[in-house]
Amino acid sequence: MDEFALIRHYFRGLTPVREDVALGIGDDCALLCPPPGEELAVTTDTLVAGRHFPEQATGYDIGWKALAVNLSDLAAMGATPRWFQLALTLPQADEGWLAAFAQGLGDLARLYGVGLTGGDTTRGPLSVTLTAMGSVPAAAALRRSGAQEGDLVCVTGTLGDAALALHTLQAGEQVDEALLARLHRPQPRVAAGIALRRLAHAAIDLSDGLAGDLLHILEASGVGADVSVDALPASPAVAARQEGRLSLQLAGGDDYELCVCLPPQNLAEARRKLDLPLTPVGRITARPRLRYVDAGGRELLLNFAAYRHFG
Ligand code: ADP
Ligand code: MG
Repeated sequence: MDEFALIRHYFRGLTPVREDVALGIGDDCALLCPPPGEELAVTTDTLVAGRHFPEQATGYDIGWKALAVNLSDLAAMGATPRWFQLALTLPQADEGWLAAFAQGLGDLARLYGVGLTGGDTTRGPLSVTLTAMGSVPAAAALRRSGAQEGDLVCVTGTLGDAALALHTLQAGEQVDEALLARLHRPQPRVAAGIALRRLAHAAIDLSDGLAGDLLHILEASGVGADVSVDALPASPAVAARQEGRLSLQLAGGDDYELCVCLPPQNLAEARRKLDLPLTPVGRITARPRLRYVDAGGRELLLNFAAYRHFG
């Protein structure tokens, strides 16, 4: 199968037809029609074999996750997802792998109604780069730079599940299905991001772990935070780990939950609007420093380095 047959067979027609696509796959460019008065939100993420997914990950999981991590970035801005482009580098045209990959990608794309509008297909070591595009009403996007002193730092869902699954896999032990899904099939918090547009001052999605990702908000906003480590929401599996819990929850990465900063008076409304838990884990301070405290208010000296590709 040459690349044109491959594109036709696996990718053309994979995702729903959208009215805001004037021209999709097949020409030199796609022609897209963003809604008037909205800003275009654009994000790119690459998954590289051995670095972003373990060798055991299936084509289905890789297809799902490649789109999920990009939709998670759109969610963190409060954007409505619309389209995505796919740049695929493959060692060979393995039809079983491609069918599974397209299915994982297509299943998640259909859940959010996003359209695959083009891409590039090349030969080389396995790597998947996706550019996702969405839109948000002018000036309504959630940025990293809006956190204010007194805001609550809140996170959606639970933290540390994906890291526990990876850790358990790497130890050669059996991993529970639900936990494994948290690693391989993250659910981007798209509806939560949109619901929080008018309620939150700042947001980021948690890809590298709260310790590192919250620092990005603090730096961009010129503020600090006190984070209460006993408040971090944990699934039963993560809560059962006395040792290593904090490292999984603060530095494990791959959570794809949202971390938002909002004024305390908006918490109740935010919780009503979300269909998943929103847990306050700390507070924004004027002093530009990230401190960890325990339930008794005592400071804990923790030093979690976020994953860095060129560290
Ligand atoms: P060009 O040489 O003009 O860049 P290509 O031959 O690379 O065009 O691609 C042909 C068409 O197929 C284009 O519309 C492109 O966007 C689309 N395409 C290529 N690879 C993919 C892919 N992996 N998924 C979806 N569309 C793709
Ligand atoms: Mg091209």
